[in-house]
Amino acid sequence: MESLRFKAINDLTTNSNGHPFEGATRITGIFGENVFTLKTAREFLSDEAYKSLLTSIRGGKKIDRAVANQISAGLRQWAEAKGVTHFTHWFQPLTGASAEKHDSFFTIKSDGTPIEQFDGDTLIQQEPDASSFPSGGLRATFEARGYTAWDPSSPAFIMDIGYGKTLCIPTIFVSYTGELLDYKAPLLKALEALNKSAVDVCNYFDKNVTKVTATLGWEQEYFVMDEAMFNCRPDLVMSGRTVFGHPPAKGQQLEDHYFGSIPERVYSFMRDYEQEAYKLGIPLRTRHNEVAPAQFECAPIFEEVSVAVDHNTLLMDVMERVARRHKLKVLLHEKPFAGINGSGKHNNWSMATDTGVNLLAPGKTPKTNLMFLTFFVNTIKAVHDYADILRASIASAGNDHRLGANEAPPAIISVFIGQYLSKVLADVKQRVGDKFDEQDEAILKLDLHRSIPELLLDNTDRNRTSPFAFTGNKFEFRAVGSTANCANPMTILNTILADTLRQFKKDVDSLIEKGEKKEIAIMHVIREYIVESEKVLFEGDGYSEEWHAEAKKRGLPNIPTTPLALDAMVTEKAKHLFESNNVYSHVELEARHEIELEKYVKKVQIEARIMGELATSHILPAAIRYQNVLITNITGLKEIGLAESTYANQKQILEKISEHIDKASGMVEKMIDARKKCNAITDTREKAIAYCTDVKEAYFDQIRYHVDKLELLVGDQYWLLPKYREMLFLR
Ligand code: ADP
Ligand code: MG
Repeated sequence: MESLRFKAINDLTTNSNGHPFEGATRITGIFGENVFTLKTAREFLSDEAYKSLLTSIRGGKKIDRAVANQISAGLRQWAEAKGVTHFTHWFQPLTGASAEKHDSFFTIKSDGTPIEQFDGDTLIQQEPDASSFPSGGLRATFEARGYTAWDPSSPAFIMDIGYGKTLCIPTIFVSYTGELLDYKAPLLKALEALNKSAVDVCNYFDKNVTKVTATLGWEQEYFVMDEAMFNCRPDLVMSGRTVFGHPPAKGQQLEDHYFGSIPERVYSFMRDYEQEAYKLGIPLRTRHNEVAPAQFECAPIFEEVSVAVDHNTLLMDVMERVARRHKLKVLLHEKPFAGINGSGKHNNWSMATDTGVNLLAPGKTPKTNLMFLTFFVNTIKAVHDYADILRASIASAGNDHRLGANEAPPAIISVFIGQYLSKVLADVKQRVGDKFDEQDEAILKLDLHRSIPELLLDNTDRNRTSPFAFTGNKFEFRAVGSTANCANPMTILNTILADTLRQFKKDVDSLIEKGEKKEIAIMHVIREYIVESEKVLFEGDGYSEEWHAEAKKRGLPNIPTTPLALDAMVTEKAKHLFESNNVYSHVELEARHEIELEKYVKKVQIEARIMGELATSHILPAAIRYQNVLITNITGLKEIGLAESTYANQKQILEKISEHIDKASGMVEKMIDARKKCNAITDTREKAIAYCTDVKEAYFDQIRYHVDKLELLVGDQYWLLPKYREMLFLR
């Protein structure tokens, strides 16, 4: 039988002709056509229903049942006009992917008449039999009650890819007793906490501000490869990354892929998924090649955090669905291939007021400058004070491969702000004395607005090695992994800022009460915060050895592995933070901690299993077949009486192959034993740590070393797994 690997390579010629893309030429013509936007709502809803929906979106007000009936009727009418027969509550459980359970509008009345129906109750709440979603012990499996509840702040949409069209109602997912079981609900709470404390602080500067929304623009990195080739790699299919594979002769060293012209087949795929994204109202804007071969990136125009989070989750799903049409596969894993760059999801984040001000954009007047400085310094302080929790927010088995490898931000959380702002902070720190004087006045008058953009144009100032960098009018959280649901890091970031701002207001108010002028009080607290948090600022090369040493000296936490990084979620500090900001109860925090640890264990367990299985059922048979070829060859040459020098080479290869086979299979056996020991551990944290050190760290690299050596030695025709050069360069 021809090996699947060669069949996949053969078929490339036909497959790579691809799926011709015929799309709309004007994006505005299709943008949001599958979304129940406010404009659509206006068309399909009565005045009363529309107004109720609007106030609910703007102010988070509850919608009563009677109005909900009207809204659901309008939604059904709109959806049916577009050929929709089914609906689903769409939610983001802690598995990371989005979840759906489809029901049809179709039902039968008590008298037997079939009808189409979608009432308010069904819109507002559903009880999926969701007993298999992770709950960290919050919801005993036998009592499988979890509820999805409509979140009107996120618009309903129609998923129209593949077969059938489905009306999707964005919801949050909670347990019977009200504990949060998804990513979205805590995010909404964190955003509300931020809104409250940010508005209070804004009011020092502008009484007209009544609402502050956090904004997010994510940059999604991903790999694309041929689907048939993907299917020949059980490790990719099972774990999302290649556990074996020798680096190709050519990797990313020529940097010829970065920003290069996009390969045709991928280009067609991109345009196709972009079109689907536009219909869903996802405002994609940027697409380009990334550094590694076969790696790409896309980014939308930024939006309110909650909407941006939904859109990212939705897009990951859309990309995977659309890829199928092109016989391609999207790899969202943080590190699908060893030896070349992994993928991240930079979270560009800022805050905007309802008066139209970006709070992280330097102001045009001294007064707005002070407002900028306030939010800027509070962010630095928040990151400083809660660096450990921020680190925990991006911890995952996949991201462990990336953080700290010399191509992604390190696991040490630091903040980059650029030369100019470093100087501004140094000035504030030095010059604001005990009394407010002319010099302070001078600082207030600094023309930050004009100077910063100029300075940021300077390329040397765009530090790419920082996990958290200021980029002119926003911070960029770069340590987020490519598969992550942005909700988690966004929940943490917005909560820690909410908390810091609340303390800031207390500190400023207490100075004002002592008779200090408002501006002076603010300057003083800012100065204090700069002093307290400056050790988190770092302008140098985050990838360098020196930084690791320096960070240690400064006392900054550096926790490279997930099981330990997650500890920060359940400290007294964390419990206090989340409870006092009404984001998580300590029970919910502990449940989440447990879920993340379980996820980690399962991921490493799957990788270990697939490693053992591949080594035994793919690698060894190939190596043994080639071993036999060599043996036959050598014995043959010997038999006909040729000198030993004629088969010395073959003999040497044979020896090496035999040695690597021996080492690899020996270690696989040992790894299986180690895994058995881990599985016997009952405490989840202990188990996760054991999986990390006794399975992953003890065996993965070593087994891989021998297997990758075999890949180089064994005759190509015997090798079953597609090689790196094929997965990365052929399409
Ligand atoms: P780069 O690759 O240079 O970091 P990109 O253009 O790829 O930049 O991505 C920048 C992202 O930042 C975009 O999604 C953009 O919309 C977003 N962004 C810009 N301004 C803000 C802001 N005020 N708040 C949040 N995100 C922002
Ligand atoms: Mg970026």
